[in-house]
Amino acid sequence: MSENQSRRSFLQNLGVGLGTTAAAFAVPSVMAVPEVAPPKDDKKLGVALVGLGSYAKNQLAVALENAKNCYLAAIVTGSPAKAEEWTKKYNLPKESVYNYQNFDEIAKNKAVDIIYVVLPNSMHPEFVIRAAKAGKHVMCEKPMANSVAECDAMIKACKDAGVQLGVGYRLHFEPFTQEVMRIGQKKEKGNVRFMQTNFGFTIGDPTQWRLKKAMAGGGPLMDVGIYCVQASRYVTGEEPLWVTAQFGPITDKERFKDVEESVSWQMEFPGGAMVNGFTSYKSNIEQLYVSADKGWLQLGPAYSYGPIKGRSNEGEMKLPVVHHQTVMMEAICKEMIETGKFPKHIDGDEGKRDMKILMAIYEAAQTGKRISLV
Ligand code: NDP
Repeated sequence: MSENQSRRSFLQNLGVGLGTTAAAFAVPSVMAVPEVAPPKDDKKLGVALVGLGSYAKNQLAVALENAKNCYLAAIVTGSPAKAEEWTKKYNLPKESVYNYQNFDEIAKNKAVDIIYVVLPNSMHPEFVIRAAKAGKHVMCEKPMANSVAECDAMIKACKDAGVQLGVGYRLHFEPFTQEVMRIGQKKEKGNVRFMQTNFGFTIGDPTQWRLKKAMAGGGPLMDVGIYCVQASRYVTGEEPLWVTAQFGPITDKERFKDVEESVSWQMEFPGGAMVNGFTSYKSNIEQLYVSADKGWLQLGPAYSYGPIKGRSNEGEMKLPVVHHQTVMMEAICKEMIETGKFPKHIDGDEGKRDMKILMAIYEAAQTGKRISLV
């Protein structure tokens, strides 16, 4: 047995205690307590998706079908109908289908190496912590949680269990994004002086969880503004010194009674870069503009599934167009197979750094004050 395999077996056998609160909502039992699943395919890491919503179905499941070094090994859902549909489509053994109540039984499932939490934001902490206690490595969707304290608890749970924690920052693996990171951080065009970054879309269904503060943690800032915060950090390679922010007007009182409709913010970085950010659930917009001493860069579309397009003062950027989630899963699993770790740049600390800034933007917008981040 390789060192990596033995490490995996060790981690899988670790946490079996539950010790967590039950899921906050009732769902019918999908099946009886599972037996130990059949032996896994050792060439590929097994991934369990938790929450079979739009992102899990349309992006992550596709990635797991296409990726060379990982596959869909289990599902966790509150919907018996989805359980049936996915079991058939992905030829899953019935022992690898869980609901939110019997989820902790996944500890016994040797086919599962990584649990990927794709639930509404407020549910991330509970399921990441339960996944860690089950002795599995954990990927969590962005935003990592709804508060810095929750990020701390998630990081601690994974550390205590000896499992890896990653946040689904797919753009870290996307070629155009990697190019602006490289140029910005290596100062290839000199010091970055100014950045304009915005991401917004027109939100639909007024009853969805994204418009409920208790579940989403906030409005567009938590959902897509986080990409703009990420961009300003990965282009400069620095952490912001302070932030000021302003909520935009509420033009739709029905939809935005609980969360902001839009918010703008300004930040200064230690190297002298100033950043203007904007996010909205009422504007279709996604751009990154970077001005540096010796040139400029622009991505647009910059953050959605793409194809991402880029230009600079030197002309059009010609880079491969990829399926973001496939390249992300392949890169994460490659590193895991080779080193026993997830890539450091998407770890829980990275998720927490964004959360600290998101919370500071809200505080700045609520108080009208400049909030220091140092
Ligand atoms: P959806 O609403 O489409 O799916 C969420 C799923 O969570 C549901 O389908 C359901 O799955 C499960 N769920 C469990 N309890 C609840 C509940 N009380 N209310 C609603 N759903 C519940 O959301 P998305 O897939 O769009 O988003 C999920 C996560 O992924 C979010 O954190 C989001 O920020 C992130 N995301 C990331 C993207 C990226 O590019 N990185 C893009 C889109 C989303 P089931 O029926 O199986 O129980």
